[in-house]
Amino acid sequence: MHQLMMLVRGRLLSMVDQIQNTESRENVLSVGVYKGRGLSLTKGEGALVWDDNGRRYIDCTSGVGVANVGHANLQVAQAIYEQAKTLTTCAGVFSNEVRVQCMEKLISISPSSLDRVFLCNSGTESIEGALKFARQSTGRSHIVSAMRGFHGRTMGALSATYEKKYREPFSPLVPQFTHVPFNRVEYLDSEIDDNTAAVLLELVQGEGGVRLANREYIDVAAELCDRRGALLIVDEVQTGFCRTGKMFACEHFDVEPDILCLAKGIAGGVPMGAILVNDKIQTQVGAHGSTFGGNPLASAACLAAIKFMQQHNLADHALELGQYLADSLLTDKPNLVREVRHLGLIVGIELKSRATPYLQRLQENGVLALPAGPTVIRLLPPLVISRSQIDCVVSEFHKVLKSK
Ligand code: PLP
Repeated sequence: MHQLMMLVRGRLLSMVDQIQNTESRENVLSVGVYKGRGLSLTKGEGALVWDDNGRRYIDCTSGVGVANVGHANLQVAQAIYEQAKTLTTCAGVFSNEVRVQCMEKLISISPSSLDRVFLCNSGTESIEGALKFARQSTGRSHIVSAMRGFHGRTMGALSATYEKKYREPFSPLVPQFTHVPFNRVEYLDSEIDDNTAAVLLELVQGEGGVRLANREYIDVAAELCDRRGALLIVDEVQTGFCRTGKMFACEHFDVEPDILCLAKGIAGGVPMGAILVNDKIQTQVGAHGSTFGGNPLASAACLAAIKFMQQHNLADHALELGQYLADSLLTDKPNLVREVRHLGLIVGIELKSRATPYLQRLQENGVLALPAGPTVIRLLPPLVISRSQIDCVVSEFHKVLKSK
């Protein structure tokens, strides 16, 4: 039996070797959870990427909100190279100067009450850790999150995610998670009680359609958490690191979360996540951990990425160009556009029909964009994108939406 399986696998691998197209090879080899876009990317530079035929695209996906400092950022590349030839891995039980500098930097740029950090490897892990810290620190179990919210795909984060199609195939999920309507203050009051460990919210729902929280909603959530002994966890996995025109979207809302979850743009494309906490979070030795979390390679990339953001004023650039992009999209607005929503350079274009065919046509015309729900086109360009590149995006966008 074992020999037969080896034979079948050997045949499969030699068959894959004969397929020319990279996407087809990937389709055969992978477990198949992604719906391919018919494109194989080989390199990037700033806001541009190239496919394996040498065709150039303006990238308004940033690897789903990751390449904030631009693709193949030379400062990040240099930091990775220097660190890679020095020390790439260092277990959490040993300290490391680069990791310490990275922690110091993250704390120094975060809302002022956050003064400790746990480093991990992805967005979903940052949520997972935050949920554990919240349950342990409060001794409570109930977690409130919002309808249309997206927090990741591991079991805890998935329990907080709203979309049924992501959750239902994997039930039963973690108990004691409930969802309230986003931006509806009255539901918070009835849901947050003395068994609530935490309220977990995005300030701009990214996957949920680029929907901005109301200032009042966030104020009430923070106030109720404070009054009822629950913790406020803000998920800035997608909105962090200058994406919204501030280092963190918290600054737009003047909110001081108890826990802040970060990832995506944190380390210039190197996988990394972080959980920042205030003094309400009490953990102890052994409560959590990660083999790769806080490794010196990712820490060096993170330091270089943040330095680049600060040196190049990426937050101001994102604020200015986000407004420019939204205004340009609305000038001579195609009929098909219902609404444009944005905060800095996270932009959602709500259509009156399904987004997928238009995403495909944009791609054919050299612009890569993302969906955010069935009818929303989401633009998350690298924050180094130029005005003239935005002009190209808008012109292609208008062309595609006006053609039938
Ligand atoms: N939280 C938010 C707001 C996200 O947008 C995402 C991913 O898109 C996640 C969490 C999960 O992050 P990751 O895919 O790195 O696990």
